[in-house]
Amino acid sequence: MYIDTHLHLSKKDYDSVEGFIQRAVDSNVRKLIVSACDKESIEECLTSLQEYDNIFFTFGYHPSVVDSITDEDLVYLEQILQTHSNIVGIGEIGLDYHYGKENKAKQIKLFQDQLQLAKKLNLPVVIHSRDATEDTIAILKQYAVRGVIHCFTGSLETAQIYLSMGYLLGIGGVVTFSNSHLKEVIQKIPLESIVLETDSPYLAPVPVRGSINESKNIPYIAQKIADVKEVPLTLVEEVTTENARRIFDLGVDA
Ligand SMILES: [Zn+2]
Repeated sequence: MYIDTHLHLSKKDYDSVEGFIQRAVDSNVRKLIVSACDKESIEECLTSLQEYDNIFFTFGYHPSVVDSITDEDLVYLEQILQTHSNIVGIGEIGLDYHYGKENKAKQIKLFQDQLQLAKKLNLPVVIHSRDATEDTIAILKQYAVRGVIHCFTGSLETAQIYLSMGYLLGIGGVVTFSNSHLKEVIQKIPLESIVLETDSPYLAPVPVRGSINESKNIPYIAQKIADVKEVPLTLVEEVTTENARRIFDLGVDA
């Protein structure tokens, strides 16, 4: 079985959650870790996705919503993290300088506050880093937490820095894109450092690139990794699922 370690699952993108989950299970993707990273998405997950025992969550405040997050929101986040056993991590959190650095200081503060929370609650983090590698690494080095670098698309050198810090790399549809250099990185890093993710509804892999992504597409990503590393698909399945269980503490039956 596979685990989709990072997706967004909202009514605004999908007609039926049941249909989404069933199609995933039919593709042998049996556990889904839904990420909600703004106040509205967190509420939606808490109200409409609690009844599914194969859905887990990571909650956190994304750098793109930094301007709307108050101290009370951080207290609220801590509260829900402590009272829901199906929340397995904090994220996605991090830094995003793609659209500018005007609120860089605020982004860094929010990132640090949530890393502190992860440390306090002993939860893994899911890191979003866009055009901000240097700052992300410098800040992560200050906190003894574990986690996943979500949607990793960086260089081999950057990959090796994250791996040396104990992080895993979340690999998604980008690895299947013909122009992606990620394949060369994947060739040179151990399977033990990779977890699979779709980032649905975004970044659908080849051969369904451009469509609304779904967790059922995880096997396309796994197959590409198997091809690139010249190993059996079953090995990619086994090892990446074990990696996901370990980092998110899902237990043997999860
Ligand atoms: Zn995401």
